[in-house]
Amino acid sequence: MFLSLTLFSLNRKKMNLKSERRGIHVDQSELLCKKGCGYYGNPAWQGFCSKCWREEYHKARQKQIQEDWELAERLQREEEEAYASSQSTQGAQSLTFSKFEEKKTNEKTRKVTTVKKFFTASSRTGAKKEIQEAKAPSPSINRQASIETDRVSKEFIEFLKTYHKPGQDIYKQCKLFLDTMNHKRDLSIEEQSECAQDFYQNVAEKLQTRWKVPPEKVEKAMDQIEKYIMTRQYKYVFCPETTDDEKKDLAVQKRIRALHWVTPQMLCVPVNEEIPEVSDMVVKAITDIIEMDSKRVPRDKLACITKCSKHIFNAIKITKNEPASADDFLPTLIYIVLKGNPPRLQSNIQYITRFCNPSRLMTGEDGYYFTNLCCAVAFIEKLDAQSLNLSQEDFDRFMTGQTSPKKQESDSFSPDVCLGVKQMYKNLDLLSQLNERQERIVNEAKKLEEDLIDWTDGITKEVQDIVEKYPLDIKPKNQALAAIDSENVENDKLPPPLQPQVYAG
Ligand SMILES: [Zn+2]
Repeated sequence: MFLSLTLFSLNRKKMNLKSERRGIHVDQSELLCKKGCGYYGNPAWQGFCSKCWREEYHKARQKQIQEDWELAERLQREEEEAYASSQSTQGAQSLTFSKFEEKKTNEKTRKVTTVKKFFTASSRTGAKKEIQEAKAPSPSINRQASIETDRVSKEFIEFLKTYHKPGQDIYKQCKLFLDTMNHKRDLSIEEQSECAQDFYQNVAEKLQTRWKVPPEKVEKAMDQIEKYIMTRQYKYVFCPETTDDEKKDLAVQKRIRALHWVTPQMLCVPVNEEIPEVSDMVVKAITDIIEMDSKRVPRDKLACITKCSKHIFNAIKITKNEPASADDFLPTLIYIVLKGNPPRLQSNIQYITRFCNPSRLMTGEDGYYFTNLCCAVAFIEKLDAQSLNLSQEDFDRFMTGQTSPKKQESDSFSPDVCLGVKQMYKNLDLLSQLNERQERIVNEAKKLEEDLIDWTDGITKEVQDIVEKYPLDIKPKNQALAAIDSENVENDKLPPPLQPQVYAG
């Protein structure tokens, strides 16, 4: 396969551990078309670029048609011979032969000249329209989608006005294509994709040669055309029921969930999320890649991937304080995909591959980042102990959820452990300390309360004892005082009263 990911096992020698460790490496040449034409390749095209893949595909199909044809011819001959020998009826023989001729012609026109067929109005009328309408999702989503479709149509027409006469022709071609596609819903998704690719190629050629549109305006027109037709095609060709796209989506999602324990260090991701700016970039990159699913136009989806990739490059650049290399990029992209677990990842990749204007995927930054994303997904599917620099036992234990590497590392943080995890363990630590303190305070408070109760009881008892021992006996006032005074007859013989004196100590 084209994505022969060069995963090297890492030397577990300590001296290599931090600086030299390389878990994931994809040679940049492996991102290119395996035919050596210089365009970006793609796993969906078996490592070819869109152009070479179509050539190969056509060749293979022509060969198949030729073989079918030869087989049909032989069977027909045998049948004819058998028939002739048994009955030798002239009329029946020519009938069979004419049927065969008819079949042959049909096959030729159907399979060989798909391109031409696009630009001739189909004889069949909208019999299938009701079926397509019935397939549509919930009414509210539908309404929203149709508002968007109307808006895109208006914008498209406004845009085409600036192209004058060619604008009208472009519009006609698009309409024709959409009509044709409406009658081709029973074709396989690959065949529908081929129709779209033929259409892009044809319109681009016409723009340049027939309508003499200047080159700088061709690309812009192609983008608008893609937007117009794919906004309308989306609901029929995104993750269609006839494919196993949805099954693949679920498989990837499950796989990513199972790999939740993978740390940046295992992937050798040069991103330090403790730096607030870096963590900001990581969050933005994750948001971008998740946002891809909400777009309907392949090119808008590609733009999300490109935005995500640029945030990744920035995160690396800030961490390393130097421009990011392509070698740093892929592992970080893998890390972002693992963290984000973007919805319907395979469906989106398939949809872009099938229905994006191929020139976008073959060259330029959009093509480069898209190829890297495909590579990242292929890597995630193959991820093993070796590529993460783990022993098979550890890998198995982490995969089955028996233990988590984060738990093991919590006591001794390596300097580049994820900021969030580090913070979480710090917080847990703090919480348990606070808990201890709170318990201590509650206990002391209880003791204080008891002491207070004891003290109050003690005082009450003492007072009661004294009151019992020395009951307060109040005698009548005037009588007692008068008696003391009246008996005080020998007052003169008493000693003088004591004077207050200060004693030291
Ligand atoms: Zn190629």
